[in-house]
Amino acid sequence: MRSAFRLLRVAGIDIKVHFTFPLVLLLGAFDWGSRHGAPGAAFGALLMMALFVCVVLHELGHSLVAQRFGIDVREIILLPIGGVALFGRMPRKPQQELLIAIAGPLVNVAIALLLGSYLGFRGDLPLDGSRLLELTQAGPSTQTLLQWLLAANVSLFVFNLLPAFPMDGGRILRAILAMFLGFSRGTRVAAGIGQMLALALGLFAIFNGQILLALVAAFVFMGAGQERAVEEARVLLSTLRLGDAYNKYALTLAPGDSVHRVIDYLLTSYQPDFAVVLGGRLLGVVTRDAVLQSLAAGQDDNYVTGIMKREVLHLDADLSLAQAREQMAEKGFPVASVYDGERFLGLINQDDINEALRIAAFLRLAQERKAVDVSVA
Ligand code: ZN
Repeated sequence: MRSAFRLLRVAGIDIKVHFTFPLVLLLGAFDWGSRHGAPGAAFGALLMMALFVCVVLHELGHSLVAQRFGIDVREIILLPIGGVALFGRMPRKPQQELLIAIAGPLVNVAIALLLGSYLGFRGDLPLDGSRLLELTQAGPSTQTLLQWLLAANVSLFVFNLLPAFPMDGGRILRAILAMFLGFSRGTRVAAGIGQMLALALGLFAIFNGQILLALVAAFVFMGAGQERAVEEARVLLSTLRLGDAYNKYALTLAPGDSVHRVIDYLLTSYQPDFAVVLGGRLLGVVTRDAVLQSLAAGQDDNYVTGIMKREVLHLDADLSLAQAREQMAEKGFPVASVYDGERFLGLINQDDINEALRIAAFLRLAQERKAVDVSVA
């Protein structure tokens, strides 16, 4: 993300702050400064910094688990509303998504437990809610800092577990649903639940005059819709099969055709390879190179069967394009035949695959821009 500056690098992940981030420090300074003067202002800024250290740890929780599953984590960006981790791709398996999503909130639980046991050991644990509320009245002190951070981590945990996108709870819900319904239906159901929850939250906020909560509800509502769109792009991408990319309108040859006919075809079409077919069965492939070699040798009166390659890589139409490309490269075939079971469909070459993958890459780019984790502080 442009307009963000790198602070440090942890486990190969850039941790950046957005240029609007200092706003939240100012807000904290203003809030505490109005009650406790200049020392209060410094304390307020310190509280916000400590809070965002917890947010970074939360995002690192997600990111380190994601890295374990081989997912590339580009950067973590701190915004005034929270942290965002940008992943190279989303996890494929529901179990992976579940573990990645739950890792963030678990970091907040761990921090809260640490702070709680330390404060408990010192007899400073605010056990009842009324003492928690008094925190804002308490003056700046180490005890206030730790108690405030404890309360903040508990609320980070609770809020992020709301079962609505883009919160972690939404991903956890989707992962669990996906185990039973599959990824696409799981996403649709989870997005629907999230939007209903956001609607209820929004109505509650409006009736109670809570503008900030209403904004959060709107944010959650849009997040759920976006997740659905991301899923649609992913389905499109993963359904890009060899059967969708081979040349369905290719010219074919019969065993009795002469090399002259291929020369005609080469001059009048962009097609570089030709299947020699008899009764729907593939006999071999004539490539442009083979034709040129035959021409150079002055043997253009031959039949195509004389110059065709009989050994052709056999690929199933169900293969994904990435798998097909891998197999062709591995076995050294620039051209392969595509089959639906026993039925010959047509030929595919590296250029066809690259072109289709280029289009897919654009789709993926649009998808990756949205593959983020948001944690609201
Ligand atoms: Zn999170």
